[in-house]
Amino acid sequence: MSDVDSHIVAVARFLPRTVVEGPGERTAIWVQGCSIRCPGCFNPQMWSVRGGALFSVEKLMSQVVAAGTEGLTLLGGEPFDQAAALAVVAAGVRAAGRSVMTFTGFTLDELSAAGEAGREDVAALLASTDLLVAGPFLADQIDTRRPWVGSRNQEFVALTDRYAALLDNLDQVHDRVEVNVDASGRLSVSGWADLDTLDALLTGVEARPVR
Ligand code: SF4
Repeated sequence: MSDVDSHIVAVARFLPRTVVEGPGERTAIWVQGCSIRCPGCFNPQMWSVRGGALFSVEKLMSQVVAAGTEGLTLLGGEPFDQAAALAVVAAGVRAAGRSVMTFTGFTLDELSAAGEAGREDVAALLASTDLLVAGPFLADQIDTRRPWVGSRNQEFVALTDRYAALLDNLDQVHDRVEVNVDASGRLSVSGWADLDTLDALLTGVEARPVR
């Protein structure tokens, strides 16, 4: 939980609309930088604090609201390593009537303890999150039953009533994979699937260097 600039967010990826990163249609922000570094993480390119694009909180907030989705999903990378700035973004998104879902590699106990110890940034991001998914990714505990999470230790926590009922029916929500193609023809995959499934899905797709 580093304590970084409260006005700037380092963003690894911004996806205006997705249906595979939480309930409903959402805008997803993968942040750049993760201090946790779980073995087997699917996004090790997002560990370094170098890289990504820098956005002001105002610009990020306005882009999320302009996307017109049900809400924002924060993932990464580690959102609580940039808690101060993301708390501002999340609060603004909520003020516009949208929901906020935050993934973290920290446990709820660790975050609560930090908040109680005076980390106002951590407490603020928790206070602006409706649905928290907490805990590190454990590669020997792959979760094939619940949607959106990677491993069975990860905990869904309803911090507001907005998605509390959903947590009683998670078994009925299935993981999905989404393939996005941008205007330049660049392809990206979102969501959760095992490597065999991804291989089958992408067989025949020609790999081209990114310019
Ligand atoms: S917390 Fe998330 S981004 Fe960080 S190493 Fe673990 S799985 Fe990867």
